[in-house]
Amino acid sequence: MVFDSEGMLAYPDALMPVGLLDRVRFNELAERGARVAGRVPLTSCPRLAELVEPDAAEISASLTLSRHDSGVVLVRGEVSAELAMPCQRCLDRIPIHVQTELKLAVVADETQLVPDLYEPFIATDGVGRLADLVEEEILLSLPEYPVHENVQECGELAARVLQAEYQRRPVPVEVTTGDCGADPPRPSTSGTAGRGRRSWGRPSAPC
Ligand SMILES: [Zn+2]
Repeated sequence: MVFDSEGMLAYPDALMPVGLLDRVRFNELAERGARVAGRVPLTSCPRLAELVEPDAAEISASLTLSRHDSGVVLVRGEVSAELAMPCQRCLDRIPIHVQTELKLAVVADETQLVPDLYEPFIATDGVGRLADLVEEEILLSLPEYPVHENVQECGELAARVLQAEYQRRPVPVEVTTGDCGADPPRPSTSGTAGRGRRSWGRPSAPC
């Protein structure tokens, strides 16, 4: 490997292979129209890793760099990922399939214009990892509020959670008095819809 005075990878040889995880100068790759493909481990995507299940992530991408007439570096290609996110209703995992076309323009700051249909990717000094662009693209593709499409899919777990909640509650005083005419105690339904509601199984004794 060849490094320049700043410790960055230099590319004296146009054929030197570059990976998605390498720190690169985007304009150098654009100059030579580089195509970079491969897999990206979740451990290289810290922001994504906070959102998805760690053991079920498969991320790959195939990207091509070029330079627009304006001089800005364009990166485009395909990104695909098999991920899983916790359902916001029942916390069980939901498989998430991402298959998207990446079209990013590498800019130094937010004021720089980008070509139509491209989203800006800010790299202040023009240096970074293509894996960072892949992570950015996947983050844009994830559902903001992942839930099972059909509420019945998470019904069983949600019901178990509800049941565990009931069992933790202290038994209301009225249950032990046996007073005729007292309303039968009922479980609280706070926070959940009627689904899973059940009686305590202790109806008032007849007078
Ligand atoms: Zn669910």
